[in-house]
Amino acid sequence: MQDTPPSVPDFTQWPSFPFEGDLRVKQLDEPVPVEPPRRGEEDRECTACNAQDEAYIWVGERWRVRTMDRPTGLPMVLILESRSHLDLGDLPNLLAAELGVMTVRLERAIRSLDGVARVHVNRWGDGSAHLHMWFLARPYGRLQLRGTFLSLWDSILPPISEARWRENLAMVAAWLAEFGGRPLAEPPRIQWQAPSSLSAVPAPDAAAGEEEAVSVIEAAEEIPEPESGTDEDLKSGADEKSESGADEKSESGSHAS
Ligand SMILES: [Zn+2]
Repeated sequence: MQDTPPSVPDFTQWPSFPFEGDLRVKQLDEPVPVEPPRRGEEDRECTACNAQDEAYIWVGERWRVRTMDRPTGLPMVLILESRSHLDLGDLPNLLAAELGVMTVRLERAIRSLDGVARVHVNRWGDGSAHLHMWFLARPYGRLQLRGTFLSLWDSILPPISEARWRENLAMVAAWLAEFGGRPLAEPPRIQWQAPSSLSAVPAPDAAAGEEEAVSVIEAAEEIPEPESGTDEDLKSGADEKSESGADEKSESGSHAS
């Protein structure tokens, strides 16, 4: 235990920092000698390799683009994945070159959407081994969302409407398809039907996605702890870890409700 906890950094006072009030810095766990496998490593299943094309908004010969299972706070959150089970540093030259082209193309497609000022491109990869790049759209005029806290704001802001979300997805998918591949994003739902006849339609989607991550910060691809925390070595001196794991779950739950 430290006698004097480290003071919180200045960025907690920035307008872009999403939280206020009394904050303190967490105690760091001891580093582990051997890191646990990520999803898609060793005997852990790879979600991306198992996913059907239908789970994506656009698919090409070597790349696929998907999104979260429901709208989140940002106008657009997309994930670019290679079809091959590779990580960033393992890409052969052809895929490395295509990654550059795809990144530029997606950035431009998302930036062309109404109300989008900037597209932040990120790669973390602590949760899943399969290459996945994040594209986060920052809403125009929201200066407070500028910078690196954007991924946090995605969970904090109220979700955008499903109609706008689907419209944005369809537009990006169509944009990408101009250069090849297949657009799979559904256009916005038709509004003229009686609401009662529509009410049953979205339910299966929502139910199926209840266990899924709902925003970039909560995405399984980026949550580093393995789901099965049975390893005794990992547990040692990690009381806080299990607590934070529980918090993550309850947060997702409250989002889903
Ligand atoms: Zn994979």
